[in-house]
Amino acid sequence: MKQELLKQIPKVDRVLAWDQMTALAASHPRTELLAAVRQVLDRLRGAVRHNSSVDLSREHLSLLVSAELACRCRPSLREVVNGTGVVIHTNLGRSPLAFEAEEAIRRVSCGYSNLEYDLSSGVRGKRHDHVEGLICELAGAEAALVVNNNAAAVILALSTLALGREVIVSRGELVEIGGSFRIPEVMQQSGAHLVEVGATNCTHVRDYFNAHNDATALLLKVHTSNFAVVGFTAEVSVEELSVLGKKIGVPVMADAGSGCLIDLAPYGIPGEPTVGCYLDAGVDVVTFSGDKLLGGPQAGIIAGKRELLEPMKRHPLMRAFRMDKLSLAALEATLRLYRDERHAICEIPTLRMLTATPVELSRRADRLVRLLRRRLPKTVTLLKHKGESSAGGGSLPLLCLPTTLLEVRISGLSAQQIEQRLRGASQPVIGRIQRERFLLDVRTILEHDMPALEASLGEVAA
Ligand SMILES: *Cc1c(COP(=O)(O)O)cnc(C)c1O
Repeated sequence: MKQELLKQIPKVDRVLAWDQMTALAASHPRTELLAAVRQVLDRLRGAVRHNSSVDLSREHLSLLVSAELACRCRPSLREVVNGTGVVIHTNLGRSPLAFEAEEAIRRVSCGYSNLEYDLSSGVRGKRHDHVEGLICELAGAEAALVVNNNAAAVILALSTLALGREVIVSRGELVEIGGSFRIPEVMQQSGAHLVEVGATNCTHVRDYFNAHNDATALLLKVHTSNFAVVGFTAEVSVEELSVLGKKIGVPVMADAGSGCLIDLAPYGIPGEPTVGCYLDAGVDVVTFSGDKLLGGPQAGIIAGKRELLEPMKRHPLMRAFRMDKLSLAALEATLRLYRDERHAICEIPTLRMLTATPVELSRRADRLVRLLRRRLPKTVTLLKHKGESSAGGGSLPLLCLPTTLLEVRISGLSAQQIEQRLRGASQPVIGRIQRERFLLDVRTILEHDMPALEASLGEVAA
């Protein structure tokens, strides 16, 4: 019986000769079509061997080939719906861009631009010039420069300011950000020598003072972005560190991590100092990310004293770390939104999602449920629950934001199966499972995600 069925599975050449394949061949590369046919036939043979029932009709096989081909021709990097509630989700691309940033990318990407050209004088310009003034204005800095990400910013700053010399850091701030960014390793790569002071929970000004000598190039403060130490603790504030730096004649640098440009406390997010706060406190150089709390593209921003930043702009690593024009365009557009705080909160998705109120989120959940109920099969049930979202991206580790969760039930499927199938849908939806329930947090579901969400739920329920 099995042998009989296996014999009935057509050969590759015969399938390729079908009319249905001619249409597919016209719109796809020959090699892809061939690979798709082979894949489908292999899968059928496997199914027959496992005694699964198979439909060997020409129509069905053509549909399978067509689906396989669509799958193969799909880009690898795709949009997904973030239903996790983690706003700055590192695995899902961190900060989604504002509409203005998207427009800016479009304007400079398909033609030429004045990336390094001074339109008023007609001579070579610098790419920093497009954002330096804005950063200085928004952070109250003397000078600024931009690189690919904050990791590059830290390495560039340390290499320029402390090559072959000593940098003093508190033992409570030797952080690992994830992946391979760890302060001790970064320090080593930059050619600076790490001098650890204090203890994990307590570091005092005298610890820095006692460790300094003629070889000291920098006092470094690192934002403990993704963890918190509670209980018996003491840390040296940036103000105290700046006073000490002035007294002993050593510059103070801060790796601020997230790069917050406005005080978020009035919006219910306390405890994150702005870049301006660091500079006001007397810090000489601050580095921060463009795609965490700032809500822009991947970027590393360095702001501070001109005399310290000028050598960084001329450093050989600058060329290796320089930002590309698309990110630069998006960064400029995002920074422009910050000129009006209310505008920034409304237009920058990361800030909008973080500051969404519980009432707003509950209403959005209601609207989503109404819309989806009308259009989805009766086998899909949506239930509202209260829950909590987090900032993510190594920002605000203690922050718990009250939110509304939608539990998705689909008859006949377990929470695991729903999670897996929504993840594998043509427009993937990522949620989380908690106590055997599949949940979507409405906080991180963007307005333009609605059609994808509806389509994917429909696809999985079908
Ligand atoms: C996130 C972070 C970094 C790395 O920034 P990227 O922009 O991801 O390179 C470095 N330092 C701190 C303190 C951070 O929070």
